[in-house]
Amino acid sequence: MGPSAPLDDSPPPYGTLVFDCDSTLCGIEGIDELRELGEIAGRRRAEVAALTERAMAGGLALEAVYGRRLELLRPSRAAIEALGRQYVASALPNGREMVAALHALGKRVCIVSGGIRAAVLVLAAHLNLRATEVFAVEVSHDSAGEYLGFDQLSPLARSGGKLGVVLQLARENPRAAVALVGDGATDLEAGPAAQRFVAFGGVVRRPEVFARARVHCDRRDLAALLPLLCSPAEIEQLAEDPAHGSLLRAAQP
Ligand SMILES: [Mg+2]
Repeated sequence: MGPSAPLDDSPPPYGTLVFDCDSTLCGIEGIDELRELGEIAGRRRAEVAALTERAMAGGLALEAVYGRRLELLRPSRAAIEALGRQYVASALPNGREMVAALHALGKRVCIVSGGIRAAVLVLAAHLNLRATEVFAVEVSHDSAGEYLGFDQLSPLARSGGKLGVVLQLARENPRAAVALVGDGATDLEAGPAAQRFVAFGGVVRRPEVFARARVHCDRRDLAALLPLLCSPAEIEQLAEDPAHGSLLRAAQP
């Protein structure tokens, strides 16, 4: 299979559901948000924005920009806490309800993100996901809360790293198929580790990601993912519990 061939796809059910964070579970990009929160000069802000755009379009290796962006931003502990609150404030509709439904079906639900773990954990808690199901990049601070650095060994700060993390999740439950939902180039790179990759365009629609994915979602509502992640029998099972009623209605096209 060449690099531009469409990904393979197998229908549900899946045992492990993996979600990207930025522009998938929430409506913002953490790096952009930190840029807005931070007190940094215009030229550096523009440099961060340009690096992010090129990295997300797949034009630059992630490791070439990851550390540089954080070095420009140097996010304090307070800035990362504020980012966590922004993640929750911009959470897409029906995230909590979708997670509750997937848990009710006995699925493992994970977030795999190149974002900053302390901020992603705030969104995860809002979605009722445990910290052990969150895979993201650790950032360290001094005792005053000033930025010290990030975990340079994290695979999620490198191109192709998401693929490795999703492969590991697949290995942890070899009998369960994996579905992966994301909007960006690093999500697409991880697609071959999953039995289904859903290109999510509910926040930002990236043509290069949509071009290779066989399954797409364009609605800014996580309920719309349900029919793409669950089998008809699983949807019927959910319909038996009125607690999932509003989610199932929102899932209708
Ligand atoms: Mg994303």
